[in-house]
Amino acid sequence: MKRPEPLEIFQPSSVREASTILHEKGPGGRFFAGGTDLLIAIKEKGLVPKYIVDLKRIPALSGIREQPDGGLIIGALTTMRELETSPILCQRYPFLAQSAAEVGSIQIRNRATIGGNMANATPSADVAPALLVLEARTKIVGMDGERVIELEKFFRGPGQTEMGPEEILTEILIPPFQPGLVGEYIKFSPREMMDLAYIGVAVTLLLSEKEKRCEEVRIALGAVSPTPMRARKAEAVLTNQILTQELAEQAGEEASRECKPISDVRSSADYRREMVRVNTKRALLNAAAGHNGATPWAYRRDKRY
Ligand SMILES: Cc1cc2nc3c(=O)[nH]c(=O)nc-3n(C[C@H](O)[C@H](O)[C@H](O)COP(=O)(O)OP(=O)(O)OC[C@H]3O[C@@H](n4cnc5c(N)ncnc54)[C@H](O)[C@@H]3O)c2cc1C
Repeated sequence: MKRPEPLEIFQPSSVREASTILHEKGPGGRFFAGGTDLLIAIKEKGLVPKYIVDLKRIPALSGIREQPDGGLIIGALTTMRELETSPILCQRYPFLAQSAAEVGSIQIRNRATIGGNMANATPSADVAPALLVLEARTKIVGMDGERVIELEKFFRGPGQTEMGPEEILTEILIPPFQPGLVGEYIKFSPREMMDLAYIGVAVTLLLSEKEKRCEEVRIALGAVSPTPMRARKAEAVLTNQILTQELAEQAGEEASRECKPISDVRSSADYRREMVRVNTKRALLNAAAGHNGATPWAYRRDKRY
């Protein structure tokens, strides 16, 4: 492991100040949140930032806030551990809390932030599929003001986002809660902990009360394309249909066709496609089984079929 060179570190107390530092000091600076990706890039991948702007002293970037319309604002510095244990997330979106709980170890989750997970733009980022099925948006602030873009458009490729070098991801915006929405996240990785997802699949369903007709279906996949992706062809298989084992199977097959996995040290592309097929079906059936039920995800996680 390479010993890092001495670094100039700034600790601004506002977003404006942080952006101004980047603007005035010029190219080569890096924002620092939890540091779980950045320090590895410095120590093991040869990244040499000219200076670091530590965001941790900006209180406005932390925490989960409910909005009057029922939407949620998640500050970019909110840690995975805070997401995993948040009462409002565990109650409304247990699959999102679960996706945060799948990240690394508890030590990592106490530092790793949701903003860093998105800004680093790894295709396997665990929280991304769960946010995509919630149709989350991102708020980005820079010297020219702020803009809001859909998370789906935020990712441009592995390690690449829509943000410019002086811009800061400040918030993740979750739309108002839809009563009856159920969901599931499955991380497939042969190791129980401390491994990146071979594939990830998140689903949400809005089912009609009586016959379980899918009024709304969202499916998102991780680690099987250059960016986390929505599987819209698979969604179309189920929309306005009554969810059955056979249709869930068909949606899984469609998802495995529309993803674009690569072969790498973890897995071949073919194996990833197969895992997408199996786990999309499983996620759909798990989500439907939780419909109108109040069983916590931590319990369900051990009872999956
Ligand atoms: C041992 C280990 C295991 C891991 N396991 C998993 C796993 O299972 N699943 C998973 O998804 N990830 C995993 N990770 C990756 C990592 O923990 C996450 O990606 C983490 O969420 C990154 O957040 P951070 O706050 O640490 O970001 P940092 O390392 O501080 O920053 C990452 C990048 O994002 C930029 N950045 C950070 N915040 C902002 C912001 N608000 N605005 C603009 N740019 C910003 C930084 O400049 C940097 O380029 C693991 C990491 C380690 C070390």
